[in-house]
Amino acid sequence: MIEIQKNISLKPYNTFAVDVQADFFVEVKDEQDIFYLISTDVFASQPHLILGWWANILFTKNYNGLVIKVSLLGKKVVKQDGNTVYIKAGAWENRHELMMRALKQWYVWGENLVLIPGQVGAAPVGNIGAYGKEAKDIIYEVEGVDLTTKEKKVRTNSDCKFGYRDSIFKQELKNKVIITAVTFVFEKQSTGYVPDIQYNDIQDSIWEQWIDPTEITAQEIANIIISIRENKLPDWTKIGTAGSFFKNPVLTQKQYEKLLVKYPELKWNIVANGIKLSAGQLIELVGYKGKSQWAVGTYVNHALIIVNNGGASGAEIRAFAQAIQKKVLELFWVTLEPEVIVI
Ligand SMILES: Cc1cc2nc3c(=O)[nH]c(=O)nc-3n(C[C@H](O)[C@H](O)[C@H](O)COP(=O)(O)OP(=O)(O)OC[C@H]3O[C@@H](n4cnc5c(N)ncnc54)[C@H](O)[C@@H]3O)c2cc1C
Repeated sequence: MIEIQKNISLKPYNTFAVDVQADFFVEVKDEQDIFYLISTDVFASQPHLILGWWANILFTKNYNGLVIKVSLLGKKVVKQDGNTVYIKAGAWENRHELMMRALKQWYVWGENLVLIPGQVGAAPVGNIGAYGKEAKDIIYEVEGVDLTTKEKKVRTNSDCKFGYRDSIFKQELKNKVIITAVTFVFEKQSTGYVPDIQYNDIQDSIWEQWIDPTEITAQEIANIIISIRENKLPDWTKIGTAGSFFKNPVLTQKQYEKLLVKYPELKWNIVANGIKLSAGQLIELVGYKGKSQWAVGTYVNHALIIVNNGGASGAEIRAFAQAIQKKVLELFWVTLEPEVIVI
């Protein structure tokens, strides 16, 4: 049976460690709880917000509505087809542990996504990604309860309309589905395994550790990425942060060429819809790497990461982020779009 609580502090639930309150808070542990919840008056009368680990959210004010903690657990192999395995995991399962467990059994393609904080249920929402891979590369289907039709629905990978840190769940289905489980697809590592190790940090580690890149295993790649991330990113259990605050901006060829004349040092790579720049480098070039104002700043090792050094309010963090956006716009004529969801 569910219990709807009132006036709950959200500080323990967001990785920015911002101290705000929610008017209502409820935990659902199975689909029956969800169906019961959506029949209640509180659900009908209040706006709602679904809680993952809130590793990607900045609260700038109290939340006047209902927070839903989706605590559905469980993982199992649902299908095996030659070298391919399909693993279904409940929304509240830990993503990193799932990827590591698959790798232990020599099932690959989650290796580049290790140590990204958060739960299974949020992976399709923001199409999380790192080191050249995205959740869409390993998501087979997504199960959820549609809050408008009040029915359970399974969506295939293509139904999810994945984009760069984007999906149908951030667009037309925003706040309209409670994702209950995600089925991931992995493959047994075979001799034909071609890993994604193009990133400089990974290449440097392979070189330093004297690993033969033609014989590297997915588990070795995961270990390399874990160590890179541990060195480069703040430990969110000690320092408030939501990871990269902004998306890397994508420019048209024409915009990029104009900028290149003045700033030949800009890092770039070609993506489907244009030329992607490094938001971190732009922030560094406007002098904001490691810069602090009040209790807010950018992380010393990574300009794209905004940190709450203790006691900053969400509004202060937002003001700091806006100051960065302004500087980058003034110097480069590039608009930085937040990756973090600001509420
Ligand atoms: C130190 C650090 C490093 C990070 N590095 C990366 C990185 O490399 N790559 C990357 O992509 N992200 C990164 N992030 C951001 C974050 O880890 C991801 O965005 C992650 O997906 C958030 O997961 P979560 O469970 O915390 O989701 P939340 O932040 O809780 O939720 C994200 C969105 O999904 C919705 N949601 C959550 N669960 C459900 C559900 N069950 N049903 C429906 N909607 C749901 C929420 O309402 C919200 O809109 C990092 C964050 C930190 C703190």
